[in-house]
Amino acid sequence: MFTALSHLYCPRCGATADAFVRQGLCRSCGSPLLARYDLSSVPIRRSALADRAPDLWRYHELLPVSSPEHVVTLGEGMTPLLAVPRLAAALGLERLWIKDEGLLPTGSFKARGAAVGVSRARELGIRAMAMPTNGNAGAAWSAYAARAGLEMLVAMPVDAPTITRVETVAAGGRLVLVDGLISDAGRLVSAAVADTEWFDVGTLKEPYRIEGKKTMGFELAEQLGWRMPDVVVHPTGGGVGLIGIVKGLMELLGLGWLEGPLPRMVCVQAAGCAPIVRAFQAGAGSCEAWPDARTVAFGITVPKPLGDFLVLSALNETAGTAVAVTDAELLADVALVGRLEGLFLCPEGAATVAAVRALVSSGWISSDEEVVLLNTGSGLIYPGTVPVDAPRIAADGEFHLPPAESQ
Ligand SMILES: *Cc1c(COP(=O)(O)O)cnc(C)c1O
Repeated sequence: MFTALSHLYCPRCGATADAFVRQGLCRSCGSPLLARYDLSSVPIRRSALADRAPDLWRYHELLPVSSPEHVVTLGEGMTPLLAVPRLAAALGLERLWIKDEGLLPTGSFKARGAAVGVSRARELGIRAMAMPTNGNAGAAWSAYAARAGLEMLVAMPVDAPTITRVETVAAGGRLVLVDGLISDAGRLVSAAVADTEWFDVGTLKEPYRIEGKKTMGFELAEQLGWRMPDVVVHPTGGGVGLIGIVKGLMELLGLGWLEGPLPRMVCVQAAGCAPIVRAFQAGAGSCEAWPDARTVAFGITVPKPLGDFLVLSALNETAGTAVAVTDAELLADVALVGRLEGLFLCPEGAATVAAVRALVSSGWISSDEEVVLLNTGSGLIYPGTVPVDAPRIAADGEFHLPPAESQ
């Protein structure tokens, strides 16, 4: 048995749907659909994973692809979980880890969702896909679509990181630049795909991208020796990464591969676009659209996420919280983490550092708790985040070194 996939269900109205034909949103209420597995049929123990390749397909029983020949892979998964002791000391913590998703194909954790989403789309006979994106998802889906021989159309805001445009085009994606935000791009894509063969694979518009992202939770548990940390901190735009990690950990609990409690989940947003933080603080069950959304952490500029109610319930169910940080704070932390640990974080990843500092200072995180930060992409995608101020010297000139300082 390659997958234990059983059916799809609607987390809002409880309707169920056939997982073995193509599905978009819930036909009864328009909510995202999620995949459910028959955990009692999973034929392996967790120890069997040790013999499998170090990529996310090692968890194939808990992924939605029915047959191995439909797996589309670029080697994604098993990103390093790095101890960061110097950063930990700077933040007043004893045990701090960064899971570095910047090493994935195309440079961000969007590769996880794309690998699984594209594999399942091809298996279900889909030939052409379209999505709105803040850049990284479009780059990732274009790469996996090329590898699968499928067509990909990507609509991204003109302000999205230039590299992600180049990645999209390099992988043969059809690119449309939109003078507006991801929400505008989303409206244009929905209108364009209606009554065509094109399939809308926007965030949570189909059920399988999240299945790829939940493997961050699987890897985290396995890399920690089948236990959970106290706190997991995730930069949140559409929310798929955060709810994916919780979904993945719940499945491991269901299998008996892990024991509770779940980590407290922290949703981090930029102060210039923080609809989930505002809704969480108000005790609301969903978000209001955020006006004039703007932040250098482009991947989390989502004014009104479709899965807002799922993120808010994941925060409430795990006794988590939501924090907004300013662009100045997160940019300072890009530089700090580079200096202390040699990691060039993406601005979204650096936002988790700024959030932890605030949560340690308020006492929400105590110094003996174990904390995991998700660096969701490579700093290389955002070359403008670190100013370079270097002296320029003539080829026949000379320069003098200061005494070496050890830090
Ligand atoms: C998309 C993205 C996010 C936000 O992830 P969601 O799953 O949409 O919440 C964070 N960081 C980067 C680099 C991204 O590309």
